[in-house]
Amino acid sequence: MDLHERYSLTRIINAAGTFTPLGVSRSSERVRRVVDAALGDFYVIDELQRAVSDTICAQTKAEAASVTHCVAAAITLAVAATMTGDDAERVAQLPEATGLADRVVIPAGHVVNYGHSILTAIRMAGARPVVVGDEDGCSVDQIDQALKQEGTACLLLVSSRLVRGEPVDLAGAVACARRHNRPAIIDGAAQDMRIDELLATGADLVLVSTHKYLASPTAGLMIGRQALVRACRAQEQGIGRAMKATKESLCGVLAALEDRAGMDAAEWQQEQARKVAWFMRRAQDLNGVVRASDQPDPSGMPFSRACLALDSRQAAQSLAETLENGSPSIRVMKHGLDQGQLLFELVPLDQDELVTIVERLRDALSRYT
Ligand SMILES: *Cc1c(COP(=O)(O)O)cnc(C)c1O
Repeated sequence: MDLHERYSLTRIINAAGTFTPLGVSRSSERVRRVVDAALGDFYVIDELQRAVSDTICAQTKAEAASVTHCVAAAITLAVAATMTGDDAERVAQLPEATGLADRVVIPAGHVVNYGHSILTAIRMAGARPVVVGDEDGCSVDQIDQALKQEGTACLLLVSSRLVRGEPVDLAGAVACARRHNRPAIIDGAAQDMRIDELLATGADLVLVSTHKYLASPTAGLMIGRQALVRACRAQEQGIGRAMKATKESLCGVLAALEDRAGMDAAEWQQEQARKVAWFMRRAQDLNGVVRASDQPDPSGMPFSRACLALDSRQAAQSLAETLENGSPSIRVMKHGLDQGQLLFELVPLDQDELVTIVERLRDALSRYT
């Protein structure tokens, strides 16, 4: 069935990355078949949760994992877990935080907005964010000072391409939290290929979106220490009810994790590099393109994006608009437009789509002088 046709929906070529308003990612045929099977039957959700945890533990060095609706939910539940443990009364009390340690330390540069502010996700647990440092950076000393204060529940860190200023010393910050005997949580939403690396910092919990590069249905993984993962699941009887993982997402996550385990990482990386190189070769000689360059993912995921530099902000903006207004609508990453740059994330795209983008670029740019 062609859903675009049936419901008159805009056809998209998504070069904007794992972007929620565009449906994030494309699942493999196998993941889609498993989800289809899941929707047609009943399952014991606890058994599916255990299967995901067992699979994650077999694939990484984690002690345990559990699944919630997404990473936005996982941040809220992880914060809640540090406040309540698995105490049923405390779980039922939230988001009323009276009597609980409710302060969450977060470096200012990690206060990102992925659709809402991460501070909203913290506050939804009933907690109070304590923002440390400023836009230019945050030292481990500053984190240390903040953690000395009474009633600080945990330290929250974000690892993402949205990070601004001088990078926070992640391992140093985690070690500092552990010295103070406070849980360290890493929001690694788009870091599904770096789970062990992030756990190796000593973090108690690493939070990962499954619908980004893992390409399963929407879900958020909470991966790390057994007791804290148990406390995350305990929230299902409290604020977590509104953030539940569904049978189809749990089954889809299992299939996507199996896809990942069977994937040849070197081959995958080569294919991504090939697409970027192919695209840049075609794009660099187009009228108005000052430079085509390869931009490695700044957070450490193993692929690059293609960056086209035009000679002005206006030219870049106008090109992005022309691509978006055509059919199919081509969406690009817009955070470089002020510097005259268009960024293309090619990971989910096939060769036909790359050809279409290049043709549309050629057409749009032939009209600039
Ligand atoms: C995508 C993202 C989120 C939100 O993840 P969802 O699973 O879509 O809720 C949170 N933090 C960062 C750094 C992200 O990149």
